[in-house]
Amino acid sequence: MSNKNIKQNIRLIPIDPEDKHSGALAKSIHCRCEFCNKTSLFDSFSIEICERMSGNSFYCPFCLRNGYDKKNNKHILILSFKAISAHWFYKLHKGRNEIWLSEIKDQLKKHEVVGLMNPAFNYDPENFLWFIDFSKVGKGKKVKLSEVFFTIDSMMSCFDLEKHVSLNSIKLLRDKYRDAIEKFHSKRYRPKNRPQLIPTLSLADQSKSSSSLRNFSMDNLKIKL
Ligand SMILES: [Zn+2]
Repeated sequence: MSNKNIKQNIRLIPIDPEDKHSGALAKSIHCRCEFCNKTSLFDSFSIEICERMSGNSFYCPFCLRNGYDKKNNKHILILSFKAISAHWFYKLHKGRNEIWLSEIKDQLKKHEVVGLMNPAFNYDPENFLWFIDFSKVGKGKKVKLSEVFFTIDSMMSCFDLEKHVSLNSIKLLRDKYRDAIEKFHSKRYRPKNRPQLIPTLSLADQSKSSSSLRNFSMDNLKIKL
């Protein structure tokens, strides 16, 4: 049969681009959270709920669950230690086996357990982000600032930094956390271009660009080495 004899009945149906939930355009959609900046794949069921609860912006289920869509989210400092894990991970990826993948995962698990001992700290394991609620930090019946620093130091020590980098590099990293936390505590200040505190190790043999280290996520650990 020649092609010119083939007849097909095609009926064109207009699709409303706003109608993201019908499944006509896509069953799942990537959305970026206004507060934590996480970009995740959501199914139409989740999107519908999140959009209804979010209002004009889009907030992920984690942020909605924790009330980070509210005005008082100005008291929340988002920080992470993921640039350290990312540094080990990319070195491993390049065949420099100074550390095993299982060790990276163990360190992350350990720092999660240690961090969650402090009631001002909240954690999203999907993107390794910590959320410190500074409305719970202060005098009286609150978490003391010194206790925030203690938790930060305890979490840093979970990454066995002293086995791999100089004491000076560790001190520089610790100072980056301390200085930024002090500024946030006293002035609620974060640089506009860097709302999340994700410092990198100051090393001569940096394994990747700073932005790659800061964007490290659980998806990277799922990649087969
Ligand atoms: Zn979020």
